[in-house]
Amino acid sequence: MEKLQKNAPSGVECSFIPTENDLELINRYTVKALEADEVFCFNLTLCDNEIDRDFERFSVEALTALAPMFEGRTGIADHSMKTENQHSRIFRTWIEESEIRKTSTGENYTTLKARAYIPITPKSEELIEQIKSGIKKETSISCTVSSQLCSVCKAEIRKGGCKHRKGEIYDGRMCHTVLSKPTDAYEFSFVAVPAQPEAGVTKSFTVPEGMALDKIEKAAAGCEAVTLSIEAFSQLTAKIHSLQELSKDAEKYRKALEARVSRLGAMAVPELSSDELEHICAKLPTDSLTALEKAFSANAAKRFPLNPQLGTFTHENKTDNKEFKI
Ligand SMILES: [Zn+2]
Repeated sequence: MEKLQKNAPSGVECSFIPTENDLELINRYTVKALEADEVFCFNLTLCDNEIDRDFERFSVEALTALAPMFEGRTGIADHSMKTENQHSRIFRTWIEESEIRKTSTGENYTTLKARAYIPITPKSEELIEQIKSGIKKETSISCTVSSQLCSVCKAEIRKGGCKHRKGEIYDGRMCHTVLSKPTDAYEFSFVAVPAQPEAGVTKSFTVPEGMALDKIEKAAAGCEAVTLSIEAFSQLTAKIHSLQELSKDAEKYRKALEARVSRLGAMAVPELSSDELEHICAKLPTDSLTALEKAFSANAAKRFPLNPQLGTFTHENKTDNKEFKI
């Protein structure tokens, strides 16, 4: 079964000193009973029931089933199962359900939380400091589920799926995959945070309902993560589709312009081969191509006048003819 790796919604939280109850639970996993000053504890959010960046979400039933599966699981570096990469162990998990916050699908926002410990040793000092200072903050989990359903038609994705596409809107609702019936939980891992002045601090921006796209763009500038409401997401998807259509038209216009300039160029500058002209045209910005089209047209008109010898039938001629009317 394919192992899923999911970024945790809010990663590590504070509360580092173990309680009596913590120690009791921790010592179920240790050979020698550890004292309060020998362990460092931290809380983390493992996963939630909101649609994630892959357009997937865990069902609440899946979160509840995953809770006991994560107890005793280790925290590792970069999802690598090598023993030397194990740095911490989850000793307690629980479900937290918000009665105020709703998910984009209208459920109560529910998270699977965990409390983990790290034995304090010279080797673990650096990691503990990184967690305390917020440098190690984002986490991701790895697990397997036996059911992945399309949110629109409830078809099982593994059995060939359906015609619906994740991330697209159907009847005002975003299609996503509902992950349920977990079969195993493996570990959690700290996700690398790139070195930057604000390392460890993840800024995020939640788009309020009804906010215009240009304002979303401005407000989100500089944020590392943006949470869109379904309404804002639909607006954005519609905008992208209209831009894609516009871009097809623009491409057609551009190709036609390049062809015209190449053709006119061949007349104006016969020394250049048509291949060379096409190559030059393809590299020029559209404004320059338009200017060239004008210049080449004028030049071509001079070199190849349309009516070189015959007098044109002008308005004056017409007036003159009146004199011959009977
Ligand atoms: Zn479907």
